[in-house]
Amino acid sequence: MSASIQNPAEQLQQAALALDAVQKALDYSLADLKERSQKADGKISAALLDHHQLVLDAVRAALPEDGQLVSYDLALSCAEVTGARFGLDYAKRAREAGGGAANEPTLEERFALLFTAEALQAVRNRLSTRPTDFGLNDQWLSATVDHVAVRQFCHAQLPAERVAELGQLMRAQDGVTGAYLLDDHHEMMRETFRRVAEEVVMPLAEEVHRHDLDIPDTILDQVKDLGCFGISIPERFGGIQSDEQEDNLGMIVVTEELTRGSLGAAGSLITRPEILSKALLKGGTEEQKNKWLPQLASGDLLCAVAVTEPNYGSDVANMRLKATKTEGGWLLNGAKTWCTFGGKAGVLLVLARTHPDISLGHRGLSMFLLEKPSTPGHTIDFTQEGGGKLSGKAISTIGYRGMHSFDLFFDNVFVPDENMLGGPQGEGKGFYFTMAGFSGGRIQTAARAIGIMQAAYEKALSYAQERIVFGYPIGDYQLTQVKLARMATYLAIGRQFTYSVGRLMDKGEGDMEASMVKFFTCKTAEWVTREALQIHGGMGYAEETPVSRYFIDARVLSIFEGAEETLALKVIARSLVDNAKNKAEIGG
Ligand SMILES: Cc1cc2nc3c(=O)[nH]c(=O)nc-3n(C[C@H](O)[C@H](O)[C@H](O)COP(=O)(O)OP(=O)(O)OC[C@H]3O[C@@H](n4cnc5c(N)ncnc54)[C@H](O)[C@@H]3O)c2cc1C
Repeated sequence: MSASIQNPAEQLQQAALALDAVQKALDYSLADLKERSQKADGKISAALLDHHQLVLDAVRAALPEDGQLVSYDLALSCAEVTGARFGLDYAKRAREAGGGAANEPTLEERFALLFTAEALQAVRNRLSTRPTDFGLNDQWLSATVDHVAVRQFCHAQLPAERVAELGQLMRAQDGVTGAYLLDDHHEMMRETFRRVAEEVVMPLAEEVHRHDLDIPDTILDQVKDLGCFGISIPERFGGIQSDEQEDNLGMIVVTEELTRGSLGAAGSLITRPEILSKALLKGGTEEQKNKWLPQLASGDLLCAVAVTEPNYGSDVANMRLKATKTEGGWLLNGAKTWCTFGGKAGVLLVLARTHPDISLGHRGLSMFLLEKPSTPGHTIDFTQEGGGKLSGKAISTIGYRGMHSFDLFFDNVFVPDENMLGGPQGEGKGFYFTMAGFSGGRIQTAARAIGIMQAAYEKALSYAQERIVFGYPIGDYQLTQVKLARMATYLAIGRQFTYSVGRLMDKGEGDMEASMVKFFTCKTAEWVTREALQIHGGMGYAEETPVSRYFIDARVLSIFEGAEETLALKVIARSLVDNAKNKAEIGG
């Protein structure tokens, strides 16, 4: 049945059925991967799941084929299907909230339908390209990804004319990408920070980027005055989050709007307090929470995170910066790298090895709060009274400018005992505290991806309306309309995916989904900013056009807060496999 003769409710129902059919293939494939990754005791072996280079050749020979590509593709496919399900739910809520003609899809329904169809098509392609790798055969494929319900749905939703029609509708929307569906409180937050981005951040953003300046005090002061640094800190510790429940949605909305102004000069300012406060709330002693959280919340104390080292980035458990016990505290020696905002920060969250036995892996790591003077510029040079030295130099980067990311060298830097996170009980728990901080960082990074996509989309849309080529505005051409339709769709559904995960996190759930949405939206942001630049033609490549900055800035999102591959393989696929059903439960 074609989409044109179905009403929107029926189309959404068909979308849900098609997703169920594809989900069955994914479930079966995950069950297959689980079987192949189980040790004799039934537990999942990370080495068997990953089959990385360290597996001894003898063992390796006995293993089934390498599993990384399958794991990665399953993580991506499950992220897309999860996004599609949140998208369908969004479409339903939007109709309930705003009405719409019974026989005409609303904008939000169009987004959800196009997104679902493209997600299904992408999963079909992956699974049917190498079915045996996914544990599937022809029979399974035809009962799932090639099921008539899936094919009919995709064929109905994906004709060029239908996608271009959405692009034409978007041209009449003035940059708005569907209803946000926020409650009054969060809508007010959004409006406030949209104004800050437009009035304070945007006028300064280009200058900061092109001259690699420090973030101007005008921006810092505004963000501070509005309580942004305390957005993830409970009221009892001086923040603006309720004591009863986390407000991840609030943090997401604020981050998204500030990032629409600039990723480097505003949108990333609350990432560090987000990570530090989550780590402190998870592992800090009451005394530590009372001391540090109010200072962080007020913005009087800026902070930075020093986890990555020159030889270890994704492999957090292997960090080597050495902490040696001395009277009254610890001496830090070694190097860290990519410590963003390390200069302006008055406190660094440093992950260090407190136990000399390397074989202890992550159990030998502890977290420290290192106080230092806050200094502007591209270098750090701090000598403690006892002679310890911390020096640093900002790494020149292609984008993400304003905060500066530093190489740091620790030479007998002293940290008092009371600054070990969690006190004496925190020794050896640094890895867990880091991970607790990073889950907040991930959802926050998804919000950054949404903000940058919105900024890029708006520029692309207005350029497409204005630029005349071959006698017509480029927006009149089908190819541009298809681009605008797809960009708006991925942006709108990515946003709702992020909001939905934020709401789950508010209930204490959604840890794996936070990784999923980070993984997915950051990849999407690369593509959306690429299309925005492309629509600008040569002008898009000029430094003076903000879309060139969006493109460069978006590129970093898949690298930090969990590199794409590490997140896909070690967090998302691992968790999906851990929770996979058995083949018998899925049925044939
Ligand atoms: C602009 C910027 C700001 C940053 N800010 C901070 C900060 O404030 N604090 C901080 O501590 N760190 C920060 N980082 C560091 C960032 O977190 C790391 O770059 C990231 O964790 C990846 O580590 P790495 O660069 O060492 O890459 P590597 O770990 O060397 O990885 C290189 C590539 O290999 C892939 N890879 C890794 N393992 C596997 C595997 N098993 N199988 C297949 N592929 C794999 C990775 O995904 C990546 O693509 C920042 C980085 C950048 C670029």
